[in-house]
Amino acid sequence: MLQHTFFRAHARAFSTTRSTARLAAGPLHLHTLLSHAGISPTPHSSGLSPLIDPSTTFERETDGTFRTGHIYSRISNPTRDNLENVLSSLESETPCITSTFSSGMAAVHAVISSNLALHGVCNLVIPDDCYHGVPYQLDTVLSNANVKWSKCDYTNYDDVVRKLEGSGEGSIVWTETPSNPLLKVTDIRRIKELIDQHNPSAKLLVDSTWSPPVITKPLDLGADLVLHSCTKYFGGHSDVLMGSVTTREGEALGEQVKITQGAVGGVPGAFDCWLVLRGLRSMHVRVERACENAGRLAVWLEGRGEVEKVHYPGLEGHPQFEVAGRQMEMFGGMVSFEMKDKETAMKVAAGCELVKRATSLGGTETLIEHRESIEPEGGKVSPPGLLRVSLGLEGWKDLEADFERMLKGAK
Ligand SMILES: *Cc1c(COP(=O)(O)O)cnc(C)c1O
Repeated sequence: MLQHTFFRAHARAFSTTRSTARLAAGPLHLHTLLSHAGISPTPHSSGLSPLIDPSTTFERETDGTFRTGHIYSRISNPTRDNLENVLSSLESETPCITSTFSSGMAAVHAVISSNLALHGVCNLVIPDDCYHGVPYQLDTVLSNANVKWSKCDYTNYDDVVRKLEGSGEGSIVWTETPSNPLLKVTDIRRIKELIDQHNPSAKLLVDSTWSPPVITKPLDLGADLVLHSCTKYFGGHSDVLMGSVTTREGEALGEQVKITQGAVGGVPGAFDCWLVLRGLRSMHVRVERACENAGRLAVWLEGRGEVEKVHYPGLEGHPQFEVAGRQMEMFGGMVSFEMKDKETAMKVAAGCELVKRATSLGGTETLIEHRESIEPEGGKVSPPGLLRVSLGLEGWKDLEADFERMLKGAK
């Protein structure tokens, strides 16, 4: 119990320190917050790059206090604190608390185990095309814990109501938007209304990895928790793994996640925090370019007879085009498309020269991936002919030439 109180006190102490989110004139534009992410002049440095403090431990004063509030880096670290404050400021103008983890999946686990700590049970509703890592974790790590889960199509409100009515105490409505890999768009406001009507005790979580705050700010749309794999757009250069969880201050589950962070210790190191701070400084510009390339690719693919289906929320024919227009500043940097079968799709992917065949997303380089063949047996959500593309920042003409080559090669 002592430990518990200790961590909670520290969770509070650090969530109240804030960086340059506000100047005298009021809240700053998101682009400004990003461009200045983490600038942290101290009495020892006037540098404009955030300081990296790799210390695990911090000197104690003669009276037993800690001058900067930091004691030991599993609990809190200056560079991590800096990053977490920036991430909080990006999600909402209301005060938030962020906990970062050494990967997105560690963040997922922290949310579920924190919910178990609070309620003794975790009733999860997850998307029917959920990022496969989540059901994999539920099956391989949490199958004997008191965690129950069911899949839901969040674009089908009858299904949502059914799942909510059966969900009970300790529920988390876990959404991803756009979803992976079918790019279904979940109407966050609508889901929140349904929760209020059918199970007000349920928490709404949005895994917003595919819609960083320059595209969507889920907390402002009614979500209780927003989770990111910072590995993707936040880092932005395919060189750092990280996850984050942000909630409004005072949200019990968010505070418990902060306690879990210190108690379990799946934390990122100071260097990784610095890499993400650096990535954030250009995120708005990177995401804009990726979205521009994605829109071009989606339209181009739609005009190709050999492509059976294109999934992109910015296309007028997309089933949630209207929701996407309301909820997303831009339509995202991810596109998926379907060839007639797996064999043809594999041939398309084999034909790229500029585009790289690799998993993941959000880097500067365009990636293509045949999803179904890397999804675990029993946990497949992708149609066999589907290819997923993460658009990078290349010149469109070069991408177009490469996709032309890929489609020709598959004939
Ligand atoms: C990549 C990803 C994750 C997992 O994050 P890691 O950093 O790889 O652990 C979770 N959700 C979504 C939507 C992702 O794309």
